[in-house]
This record gives sequence, structure tokens and C-alpha cells, in this order.
Amino acid sequence: MKQFRPLHEHAPRNARYPAEPGVSPHAEAPRWRGAWASSLARDNEAMEGGLVRCGHCGQRNRVPAAAAGTPRCGKCHQPLPWIADADDTTFGDIADAAKIPVLVDLWAPWCGPCRMVSPALEQLARDLAGRVKLVKVNVDASPRVSQRFGAQAIPTLLVLRGGQVAARQTGAAPLPVLRTWVENALAGPAH
Ligand SMILES: [Zn+2]
Repeated sequence: MKQFRPLHEHAPRNARYPAEPGVSPHAEAPRWRGAWASSLARDNEAMEGGLVRCGHCGQRNRVPAAAAGTPRCGKCHQPLPWIADADDTTFGDIADAAKIPVLVDLWAPWCGPCRMVSPALEQLARDLAGRVKLVKVNVDASPRVSQRFGAQAIPTLLVLRGGQVAARQTGAAPLPVLRTWVENALAGPAH
């Protein structure tokens, strides 16, 4: 298992880091782009151009990053997966103000384990549609959110209920482990 880099090591915004010590960023770039591209391709199955496809009837729905209540399909009224990006400016509206629990993914583009865990988190957002909102925060672009949660390594995953941390997980984990972790956090007593 790869060691996660402490946050204080990645000062420059949008910097590209080699995956392993001694490997130049240039050597890493093609692999990075490839892995990222395939992850995006998976995303696009559920979300195309800001539209979320209903898992029940296939209808495409526009889902705002922040809204009262939870998104439902305009056609069949089933809950839709809710996946949003947030940063220092928007985190309050998108995550803190959410009326359902929020699964926060503190990630960065250069972080291999983050890319590994991202599809599992999106799968959870689909499986737990209506029960949890996935909010992704790029820590390089969101120093205040990172500091607020004391994120020393990424990925750091949090379950927020009413803006309070109900559960915390550092590092990637397989989908079944994450599913149990999130469901326990949703079932536990509110903070
Ligand atoms: Zn539908």
C-alpha cells in the first residue's frame, strides 16, 4: 500500500507530483491522464454534461449542487444520486446546509489512492441516493476546508450530519468496507 503524502508537502496549487520518489512528473503524466480519463468515462455514465441519469427509468435530470431537500427524478420520482464539487467558497451551501448526511471526499488530482477510491464513492452515492450526498473537495484548491477538518493525508473521507463529523476514514478502502462504514455512520446517533 502506497504511503499517503501529508498535506503540508503539496504547497503549490495545481502542482503535478510524481507517483513515486525519483519518477519525474513528465514520466508520470501519460499514466495519470489515462487513469483519470477512464475514471471520467465511468462518471459520464451517470452524469453527462451536468445531467444525472435516473437509475430507475433512464431519464436525464439536471441536479443543482445545492438545493433544498433531495433531488428526485422528474419522471419516476425516485431519488437521484447527488454528487457535487465544492471548494472553500461553496462548501457551506453545498455541504453544511445539506438536509441529508454528506459524504465528503477530500482529494487531489495528483493523489493515486484518491483516484482509486473515487469510483467506489460514486457507486455509494448511486446506491444510497436520497440518503447521502457526495461532496468532492479538491484540497489543493480548498485550504480552508482542509484545515477545518485537519486533513493530514488524502484521501480523507468524512460523513457529516448537520455539519458535524459523524465518521472519518483516512486512506482508500474497498467498496464493501466503505459501504459498511457509511451505513454505520448514517445509522448512528446524530451528533
Ligand atoms: Zn426516473
